[in-house]
Amino acid sequence: MTFMNFIGGAPVGASETSENINPSDTGDIVGAFARGGAAEVDAAVEAARSALPGWAASTPQQRHDILRRAADEVLARAAELGRALSREEGKTLAEGVGEATRAGQVLAFFAGECLRVGGEALPSVRPGVEVQIGREPVGVIGLITPWNFPIAIPAWKIAPALAYGNTVVFKPADLVPHSAWALVEILTRAGLPEGVLNLVMGPGRSVGARIAEHPDIDAVSFTGSVGTGRGIARACVESARMKKVQLEMGGKNPLVVLDDADLDLAVETALQGAFFSTGQRCTASSRLIVTEGIHDRFVAALSERMAALKVGHALEDGTEIGPVVDARQLETDEKYLAIGRQEGAVLTGGRRLELAQPGFYLEPALFTEVRNDMTIAREEIFGPVACVIRVRDYDEALSTANDTEFGLSSGICTTSLKHASHFRANAEAGMVMVNLPTAGVDYHVPFGGRKGSSYGAREQGAYAREFYTTVKTSYTLP
Ligand code: NAD
Repeated sequence: MTFMNFIGGAPVGASETSENINPSDTGDIVGAFARGGAAEVDAAVEAARSALPGWAASTPQQRHDILRRAADEVLARAAELGRALSREEGKTLAEGVGEATRAGQVLAFFAGECLRVGGEALPSVRPGVEVQIGREPVGVIGLITPWNFPIAIPAWKIAPALAYGNTVVFKPADLVPHSAWALVEILTRAGLPEGVLNLVMGPGRSVGARIAEHPDIDAVSFTGSVGTGRGIARACVESARMKKVQLEMGGKNPLVVLDDADLDLAVETALQGAFFSTGQRCTASSRLIVTEGIHDRFVAALSERMAALKVGHALEDGTEIGPVVDARQLETDEKYLAIGRQEGAVLTGGRRLELAQPGFYLEPALFTEVRNDMTIAREEIFGPVACVIRVRDYDEALSTANDTEFGLSSGICTTSLKHASHFRANAEAGMVMVNLPTAGVDYHVPFGGRKGSSYGAREQGAYAREFYTTVKTSYTLP
């Protein structure tokens, strides 16, 4: 079966297709997917533009009911959707099912939000004048998503876009089109009118770039790497409508472990944050900043736990770490392993694994004796690789944690209320975790970072409204 693009309410083929390969077993082809280009984006924008007035005028109840139906279906089919997701992306089955469930929860949350869009009435400084502040849809929104959360990220962009009355042109990552296609198919059957949600699969440099520059798109929400995000922002600002833009990008997230930490908790927190989902999370704990008094015990216990992790086929029972997503990412991971060794860091693990099925398997890797100015401590690797940086005390830990171009998530393991409170107040990050992994967040609260990690309004929860609506202030003299 060939999975088609979806434009103006109908499946649309493309002159080219690409094969979606299972990273746990490269002989397993998930399917052939249409590979669109600029022409498909143009058609999708036209369809979204035509559908906009009707959808923007739909009642909150209509939008709620559609999103709620889609949420119910995603939740009911979470096991099957999660399995398909793990097959194409390589995260473990438990992680895949968890992500599909989260997508359903996000849809349900925004179904409720449809009914909660309100405004304000303020007294004017002029006698008799009424001032009203309301929110309106932004218009046609382009959504560009990465491969590492193939259904949750699309859901947390599509759901608020639709809830607040916008129409959508959606481009998923090239490596994971199946989850995107399944989500669009479910939402369409849930009752979306033609053209409200359009799917164009294909390469970033053609489909993504056309979305960013298109003169008739009003806003773009992007999640992916910093380099791509910067280019998209530039194109958005230079385009005719000067698009509103939201970028969620990379991280080099610190997890501080202080001498007074509960050692077992700190080790489990680091293990989960650094290596689960194969370390392919923007919120992964890639810098473990550890004070002298606990350093050696922490490294010994973490290394022991890492050695016991079962790396394997994402869909097999007992697998704790799935494969790397593809050959290119594996090459990147191995390149950084070589750089770290050249820089003088000491590597444990990080061997390429040959298992029963041919896949992109990499043993979790831990660098010790890392300085924060080394390349491996500064650049996002996006694999199962963590660095341990030894520091004298809390003050040095905090300054090291903040010494990065990124600012997504920042964590600390400590039993000291004083240090926990100080860290929460002074960590330069959008999200701070105390005695919890830097990765793993709730779906109903804002998500996002500072510095090179994020640009524009926050995603998720009620805060998503800032990006997906535009404010109108009206004055009336009755
Ligand atoms: P990427 O930047 O390579 O691609 C992201 C998306 O942009 C894909 O759909 C891709 O096809 C598209 N794209 C590529 N080139 C483009 C171009 N020139 N114009 C327009 N679109 C283009 O990122 P990736 O490798 O898919 O994902 C990994 C990155 O995503 C990591 O840096 C990770 O930290 C980040 N990420 C961030 C968050 C967050 O919320 N902060 C969440 C998940 C992933």
